[in-house]
Amino acid sequence: MEYLVKDKSKVEECIFCLNEPGCDENYILYKAKYSFVKLNTYPYNCGHLLVIPYSHAKELHQLSYEAGAEIMKLLSKASDILKKVYKCSGLNVGLNIGKSAGAGIEKHLHFHIVPRWEGDVGFYTICSDLRVISELLDDTYAKLIDHFKNIKL
Ligand SMILES: [Zn+2]
Repeated sequence: MEYLVKDKSKVEECIFCLNEPGCDENYILYKAKYSFVKLNTYPYNCGHLLVIPYSHAKELHQLSYEAGAEIMKLLSKASDILKKVYKCSGLNVGLNIGKSAGAGIEKHLHFHIVPRWEGDVGFYTICSDLRVISELLDDTYAKLIDHFKNIKL
């Protein structure tokens, strides 16, 4: 709800560009050479993570080969960690390019990893945009941070 009612027309800075004023440094789990992993502050489900390149790229062809390769490795590691910690039976891994594809922040690419369980899409999700998340972000962060301390790419 906080995100939906926020006046986004006045937001000039990019929340995913680290080292810039206004960037969102909250809930970062891992920083690699070209990209980083953080919790989605507005999750679709418990454990919803984002893998984000440092470079302010809007299109896939703007990413370097090295950044793309690293992002694939991070998606793989993060998927393994989510399966282990959340015991999910599946995952949605994806990227929305452009507003019409559902990109909330279309000016900076970000890859979603969403844990899924059998039957987890409930009444509220089907009938409205309302989502019910049964875990606080601080609890999600506490569950995952130790697993990201030891990953090797
Ligand atoms: Zn950016």
